[in-house]
Amino acid sequence: MDCLFCKIVSGDIPATVVKKTDSITAFKDITPQAPTHVLIIPNKHFENMAEVANADADLAGQIFKVAGEIAHELGLKSYRTNANTGLEAGQSVFHAHLHLLGGRSFAWPPG
Ligand code: AMP
Ligand code: ZN
Repeated sequence: MDCLFCKIVSGDIPATVVKKTDSITAFKDITPQAPTHVLIIPNKHFENMAEVANADADLAGQIFKVAGEIAHELGLKSYRTNANTGLEAGQSVFHAHLHLLGGRSFAWPPG
């Protein structure tokens, strides 16, 4: 299958990997939207996070757990996790991923 994130998991495409286990890989987003922008993905291919949750609730939980661990390791007290699901929601890579964003304010209204 021609999937960018499967190739990152296999090492065929380089990425700045921050955590890797038997079931998940976390790496820096190539176009960061915040000082910290990490993507946490299952090593196995699923189209989106809802599919992960349907197929393997434990794996979906692990992805959120790892997001929290990385945030903790980076000293982030506040952070945002986001999973875009579908083209109109802004999903551009159809291998499930959770965005972890931090290091700036997302509060609205600002200030
Ligand atoms: P989404 O738009 O929610 O599907 O998120 C896909 C994310 O993947 C975007 O934030 C991209 O910047 C990021 N991305 C695309 N290609 C790469 C890559 N080769 N390495 C790291 N992140 C990437
Ligand atoms: Zn894939």
